[in-house]
Parts: sequence; C-alpha cells; structure tokens
Amino acid sequence: MVFSKRTFFPIGLIGFIVMTTLSACNYFPYAKSNRIYKKNTKDLVKLLKENPSIQTISQLPKADAWVGTTNFDLRKPNFVVIHHTAQNSCEQTLKTFTLERTKVSAHYVICKDGTIHHMLNDYMRAWHGGISKWGNNSDLNSSSIGIELDNNGFEPFDSAQINSLLLLLAQLKENYKIPDANFIGHADIAPNRKVDPNIQFPWILLAQNGYGLWFEPNEQYTLPESISIPFALAMVGYDIKDTTAALLAFKRHFRADSTAVVTEMDRSVLYQLIQNKLSH
Ligand SMILES: [Zn+2]
Repeated sequence: MVFSKRTFFPIGLIGFIVMTTLSACNYFPYAKSNRIYKKNTKDLVKLLKENPSIQTISQLPKADAWVGTTNFDLRKPNFVVIHHTAQNSCEQTLKTFTLERTKVSAHYVICKDGTIHHMLNDYMRAWHGGISKWGNNSDLNSSSIGIELDNNGFEPFDSAQINSLLLLLAQLKENYKIPDANFIGHADIAPNRKVDPNIQFPWILLAQNGYGLWFEPNEQYTLPESISIPFALAMVGYDIKDTTAALLAFKRHFRADSTAVVTEMDRSVLYQLIQNKLSH
C-alpha cells in the first residue's frame, strides 16, 4: 500500500504524538534503581539472619557458640549531617544517587521548592560523610542521617527548602531522640575537605528551633587563657589534625566568616559552645 504525501504525514504525526504521550505517561526514570534498592535490601536482610562470624575464630570452641538472645531491636541514628549538593538541580542529584558507580548517597534530598525525596530507610547507612570525624566518632555514616539540600554551593537557601528541612528535622529528632548538639554540617566533620552547607546556611535559625548549638553575644563570658584555641575546637568536636581547617569550619558555621583570625567574640563563642555541649 502506498500512501500519498498528504495521507502519510498526518497519520505518521498522529502516531508519533500518541506514542510520545503514552511513553511520557508510563516513564519513571527510577524504576531500575528502585529494583536495585529492593535487591540490596534483601541481601542485607539475609546477612542479618545469618549467625555472627565469631564462630570462625579458630581458637574458640565451635559447639554451641551461638546462643541468640531474644531481646534486641535496630540501632538508631544519633546525628544529622547537613549538606549542600554542589549540583545544579534536584534531578541531577537524584540521578547521581541512583547510579551505582558514583558510590554516594544520602537519606534525604530537599529541592528548592521544598519537595523532600526520601532515598534510603533511616536505619540504613548512607554514603554521605566520607572520611570524617566528630569528637571520637570516626564513622559518621554509621551513626547519622544525611540530608542534602539542592544548592550549587554559592547561593542562598530558599525559604521553602528551609521550612521543609525544619519539618524533617522535627520528625527525626522526635523519632530517634537526637540531642540538640548532634545536628551538624558536612564541613564540621570533614573540615579539610568540605565547606558544605555553604556560608549562607541559616544555622542560627536551626539552633533557635533546637537543632545545633548556639551562643549569646556576650564577650565577657570567655575562654580562659589557659585553654588553647585548638583544644577548644577539639572540645566542640572538630578534628584538629589541620587546625587552620578546623578553625575555618568553626568560623563559617558559627560566625558566618571565612577568615582564620580569632577575635575576642570567637573566644567567647567557643567557650559557650563547650559549656552548652556539656549541658546537653
Ligand atoms: Zn557534603
């Protein structure tokens, strides 16, 4: 059968529109990664059901080494680590976190319009912190929830996005009884590698709502001369292997300042943070 030009084009065009509309309705870009999520979860459940490997220690007697207790539940996250994505859109970040080769993820991604994407069960370990340390905790991924805010690293944070963050933090704090002091930023736990969330992040607003420590503007209440700045930074939680990096992370978070100079007010802030941490 031969179509004339006049009949062929409308039929071809209609077919194209129908096909495009149908595929647009059915298209869900994360079906494949959702299947991988399910499979990985199943593998972990299988691992949990196995008896621990302590029986493989050859010096131990083998028989009856495993006696399963009846009393247990899941470990709970005790920290929240806040990030900016350093990417250009929420879609870009969702894609990054659903490609196995990237080896990075977070529990939540919050878009500029306030949409919250939950990407991993809170009880699971996301790969958001990398090599990091806070106090004696050197595996923050194991003990924290990671929240990524869609932000390229240089722009202010939208109020819709911050409102969603506050709602999410309220839920997490309530669910897992996370202490005020344990709401921190990626730069706090990896000061020589990271600066997120960027210097425009409203830490004071979070602290006013009970997420993270803060201070009063009172220079009189200050760090005793006998306590060095690196020691004070370590008391707050910073890794002081690189003291300049730790100082800069402190200044960016608590003073919205990116100069490595210690003022009288900084000394007062450090002292108050230590006091507040001890009392929380
Ligand atoms: Zn980060």
